[in-house]
Amino acid sequence: MSTLTITDLHVTVETDQGTKEILRGVNLTINSGEVHAIMGPNGSGKSTLAYAIAGHPKYTVTSGTVTLDGEDVLAMSVDERARAGIFLGMQYPVEVPGVSVSNFLRTAKTAIEGEAPKLRTWVKDVKDAMAGLRMDPEFANRNVNEGFSGGEKKRHEILQMELLKPKFAVLDETDSGLDVDALRIVSEGVNRAKASTDVGILLITHYTRILRYITPDFVHVFVDGRIAEEGGPELADRLEAEGYDRFLTNA
Ligand code: ADP
Ligand code: MG
Ligand code: MG
Repeated sequence: MSTLTITDLHVTVETDQGTKEILRGVNLTINSGEVHAIMGPNGSGKSTLAYAIAGHPKYTVTSGTVTLDGEDVLAMSVDERARAGIFLGMQYPVEVPGVSVSNFLRTAKTAIEGEAPKLRTWVKDVKDAMAGLRMDPEFANRNVNEGFSGGEKKRHEILQMELLKPKFAVLDETDSGLDVDALRIVSEGVNRAKASTDVGILLITHYTRILRYITPDFVHVFVDGRIAEEGGPELADRLEAEGYDRFLTNA
């Protein structure tokens, strides 16, 4: 069992108007096997939380801590965080010219494990994971993110998660821009990863619809850079019915 603990996290970013505090004291504890949904209005700081956990250089942690089984995550480089078992969906949104999906996945797996995966089992694992996500085998030969559709990017993100087997995955708006079929397929991939590897998941979303396919253990409502309310899956139902207005008027 692993635990990712975020304590009183404050994060700033440099803007044209100067330094702006975006996260204003976030507290969150995620254990292996748990799905935590972070829901909130646009601009509330959800992506900033994801980037801060992953170590994006644009986001400065001014106070607070992030620990993984007691180890100081904030002291780790981006690579060290990945090796420690933290995965951020969308961490490679850029095109990687000349690098195929297949080579990219194998390189990432080798970097994380410290040794190259055994070729025969690896090839089968990739094939199986792609089949599970209803991806054309040809996709493995394409260059990373080159001309990928929105849906292909999301499937590629979940493919990475299923193959890299992180301890904790932060999935930021994995549901955005997906049609119902793609949403179901991507959600099944997340559920498979949860069942087979006990990954802990931080599922960031603006909308409740993905939560029909992935049942969260906890729902956190994010408003203005901090968690304004917490509950179980029933809180998502309430948000679906009522929206975020209640939180915004009280903020
Ligand atoms: P969310 O993901 O909830 O929509 P974000 O974390 O993307 O929210 O953004 C929160 C706030 O911080 C927004 O007001 C946004 O404009 C601002 N912000 C985030 N990243 C940057 C950045 N790199 N430069 C300037 N402002 C930023
Ligand atoms: Mg504080
Ligand atoms: Mg966002």
